[in-house]
Amino acid sequence: MSVCTRCGGKPFYTRRYSGETLCAACFRDSIAEKTKRTVSKYGMFGPRDRIAVAVSGGKDSLSLLKVLSELYLPRRNEIVAISIDEGVAGYRDEALDHARAVAEELDVDQVVVSYKDLFGFSLDEALDWKEERPVSSCSFCGVFRRRAIDEAATRVSATVVATAHNLDDYVQTFMINLMHGDVERLGWLDPAYVDNSFPVRRVKPFMEIYEEEVALYAFLAGVPFQSVSCPYMHEGLRSEVRDYLNKMEANHPGIKNVLLRSSLDVISRFAHSSEKESVPCIRCGKPSSSGLCNVCRMKAEVDEHVNIHRSSRSVGGG
Ligand code: SF4
Ligand code: ZN
Repeated sequence: MSVCTRCGGKPFYTRRYSGETLCAACFRDSIAEKTKRTVSKYGMFGPRDRIAVAVSGGKDSLSLLKVLSELYLPRRNEIVAISIDEGVAGYRDEALDHARAVAEELDVDQVVVSYKDLFGFSLDEALDWKEERPVSSCSFCGVFRRRAIDEAATRVSATVVATAHNLDDYVQTFMINLMHGDVERLGWLDPAYVDNSFPVRRVKPFMEIYEEEVALYAFLAGVPFQSVSCPYMHEGLRSEVRDYLNKMEANHPGIKNVLLRSSLDVISRFAHSSEKESVPCIRCGKPSSSGLCNVCRMKAEVDEHVNIHRSSRSVGGG
């Protein structure tokens, strides 16, 4: 029977791409080590950084909070959990409860910022006019979420925001950009690229770890799993790309690692050609490509809809 390659203990997981077999404790250690290597390779955190971990309450972000707390709190880096409440009844509440519980357990402060407070409407209210929108729910939601993360990070005086994107997310995004013909955007995926349209730098410490391994870490670390998924989730092309990559990985172990390396190589060639040109938004002053940022443009459309909706309800006596 095989044993843990590191300590000879009871096997828990075999990395098919490397042949390494690990017991549960060595597997957990290996995730922390891999994260630390990625952080140091791309210079993600400095000794004085105040790190805001974007915690949705899902398994990936809670695992990231656990790993970063274990690695960086003892080094006296300050860590704060920032969570966004989009306002999706029956879905986000459970995730936020999980986030609160894990932050408390780790003795990390948590700040929650809601769409309702920031933009004046919840996602439920905004998506009420779904059929009229040209973009998918997640693309729409993502515009507001990015702004909400900026806002939360600024409120807690963070110098860097860590998100839980893993290797699978990274490679999928690379391929989706190719499939959409968005070659110019590839440079934005460069880990060294500093996007000036975000007031606080973004980093992805899990970008070299397989999604499957993050899920196993979450299981071992006792991270609570969410029982419901977002009713608006619309992944379209992404879920097809995910299935395809998983099938390739099953037949050719390690192919995702190779794809990550190839993606980074291609991306680095675009890194300097894809600087975003921006001008301040005429409404909010945040960087925009056309003078009116996406948040203000979409918010105006939602406001109009929500107002029409409210007034028609009051006319109807509802
Ligand atoms: Fe927003 Fe999509 Fe996430 Fe739902 S699944 S919260 S719509 S990004
Ligand atoms: Zn604006």
